Amino acid sequence: MTKSFIITLICSFCLLFCTQSNQQVPLEYEVSSAVKWTMTSAEYQIITEHLYRTATRSIAAIEVPKEPWVVAMDVDETLLNNVEYNRRRDLLGLGYSSESWADWVKEESATPVPGSIEFVTKVLEKGGLIVLITNRERELDSNTWNNLVALGFPVSRNNACIMGRSQADRNSEGTQGMINDKDLRRNQIATGTANYCWKNYPEAQEIWNKPLSIIFEVGDNIKDFSQTTQDNVDTKDFMERISTDVLLLPNAVYGSWE
Ligand SMILES: [Mg+2]
Repeated sequence: MTKSFIITLICSFCLLFCTQSNQQVPLEYEVSSAVKWTMTSAEYQIITEHLYRTATRSIAAIEVPKEPWVVAMDVDETLLNNVEYNRRRDLLGLGYSSESWADWVKEESATPVPGSIEFVTKVLEKGGLIVLITNRERELDSNTWNNLVALGFPVSRNNACIMGRSQADRNSEGTQGMINDKDLRRNQIATGTANYCWKNYPEAQEIWNKPLSIIFEVGDNIKDFSQTTQDNVDTKDFMERISTDVLLLPNAVYGSWE
């Protein structure tokens, strides 16, 4: 009886000690290789800047249409680098969540993808417009805009419009003519029905309420390109378009390939 009591007592102490130990020492998680590559490698810096420089030269040399024209660009991992968000989540042993992502967007502290500011500057110098078609939530458009302006992207109401994702975009995917969840917004730009653009600023809105010719598309996800998905893309055909009317950037951290 006495022996049994002593064993029970020792086990109780052990359990108590182990529990307290776990509470005091936070678990540490590794940062993924993809995040490390994006944050620290020379390769990421060189590849993205090289791709943007090539595209910037293409824009400089391109014969633009007489009618108003626009370059359609994604935002995340295209203009803005969010790898700090992924690093923080990795260290917590957690992945993406819409709540933590919204908090990150509201911080407005993403950094520019190398070469992207120079590319946007060249498009605007050439007389083009920029439409930012992003799957950040539409309610967060002002945060995204503030982040871009603070980094020195030369965007203004007269030369750029940001179109975050709405419920209508989600609902449109898979309906007639809408192959991916950005096709509706591209269609609105092309048909002069992007009424959302600067709707409280009549002079600026006028620019976007007329059909615009999308002459170039930029993104890090195959769905950033008109009518394209992982399943339907013809990679050889797509390759032929690089620097002619598309620019595809690397993203090893996340994408529609997952
Ligand atoms: Mg992206």
